[in-house]
Amino acid sequence: MSRQGITILGSTGSIGQSTLDVIGRHPDRFRVVALSGYRQVEQMFAQCRQYQPDYAVMVHQQAANQLAEMIRAAGMETAVLAGEEALITICQLTEVTQVMAAIVGAAGLLPTLAAAHAGKRVLLANKEALVMSGPLFMQAVHEHKAELLPIDSEHNAIFQCLPPIAAGGLPQAGVKQILLTGSGGPFRTIPLQDLKTVTPDEACAHPNWSMGRKISVDSATMMNKGLELIEACWLFDTTPDMIRIVIHPQSVIHSMVEYVDGSVLAQLGQADMRTPIAHALAWPERMDSGVEPLDFLDVANLEFEAPDPQRFPCLRLAEQAARTGGTAPAVLNAANEVAVAAFLSGRIPFTRISDLVEEVLMGVSAQPATDLEVILEADRTARAAADQIVKRNPTG
Ligand code: NAD
Ligand code: MG
Repeated sequence: MSRQGITILGSTGSIGQSTLDVIGRHPDRFRVVALSGYRQVEQMFAQCRQYQPDYAVMVHQQAANQLAEMIRAAGMETAVLAGEEALITICQLTEVTQVMAAIVGAAGLLPTLAAAHAGKRVLLANKEALVMSGPLFMQAVHEHKAELLPIDSEHNAIFQCLPPIAAGGLPQAGVKQILLTGSGGPFRTIPLQDLKTVTPDEACAHPNWSMGRKISVDSATMMNKGLELIEACWLFDTTPDMIRIVIHPQSVIHSMVEYVDGSVLAQLGQADMRTPIAHALAWPERMDSGVEPLDFLDVANLEFEAPDPQRFPCLRLAEQAARTGGTAPAVLNAANEVAVAAFLSGRIPFTRISDLVEEVLMGVSAQPATDLEVILEADRTARAAADQIVKRNPTG
């Protein structure tokens, strides 16, 4: 079997590192062709030393210069590229068959879309890209015969619980509904009045998963589950009516599919992203991921509850954007990215995140998402509106 060439967008992040860990266990199957990061030079240098990619991209020009110098001094052969254009280049290389899309946020949209256009197997962690561009993205996947495999643990679980060919739609496959599970994050049980004063570090201390800071805050507001609702609609060609969000604090079940005959299939496992990553890399085969087996004697309790709409207003906003369609999900996503960044840098309190997103959603009208430029324009407009709100009312 010839080795598969892999590009990892966002290799210096949490998902990127887990992907390298899995790939490193299977040097006979995979070869790292290209890595990318924003500006973490030392970390990228260490990754280049270990995995010897042909290319390393640093989006930040100065970081790229530094990395190039270190690589030259060490006598290594990796070519260093700089800038956003280079992210697209490394997704289009003919020697690459799989692209791990693990940049956080809208910054991942263009390269991930380029991977779909190039007909690659796209391993999608970067949910924001699909949320922003759903119809265009799915069209690119179909037209260019790309393969889209979900890395998000819930969507990977759902994918595993669906029949191999659910073409023709979920109802034809006998699916009654999808049960999208979420832990409820670190603030599931704290008194509501205390939410105003939670700190970024508290918001990022997820009870079950270790992740980047943006998605950790999204988990605390449950905007993550809202984005995942939209993501699921596109991945599985369905609507919010077919998806029920259920809180499951232990994160042992990663999501479920309920069928019309009363069967419910669930995927269970450790809260370790290397499982969905290995699943998607090897699919339709299976391979070792390095993840500890699940010991059922440790899993005494599996609890389930409905999300509290007062505690998690972002769920309602995301569902509303999903139903509105067009550019509304792109507006939701952009406002949320600005709000989360403002919270993480101490400019707004936690409870302002949902208020800010709601205000932007009301102020920026949704357009049909007919082409990429319309989506990018909606993203820019929503960011500008969100920035204004942060500036106008920094603390309240
Ligand atoms: P992270 O913050 O740990 O890593 C983000 C990566 O993106 C880094 O390599 C960073 O250098 C790069 N990056 C950041 N800004 C960039 C920019 N402007 N241009 C180019 N590159 C940039 O994030 P993460 O937790 O690994 O999450 C990555 C994606 O995967 C997100 O979309 C997240 O929602 C999704 N995801 C993550 C997890 C998880 O367990 N971490 C689970 C499910 C889905
Ligand atoms: Mg998830």
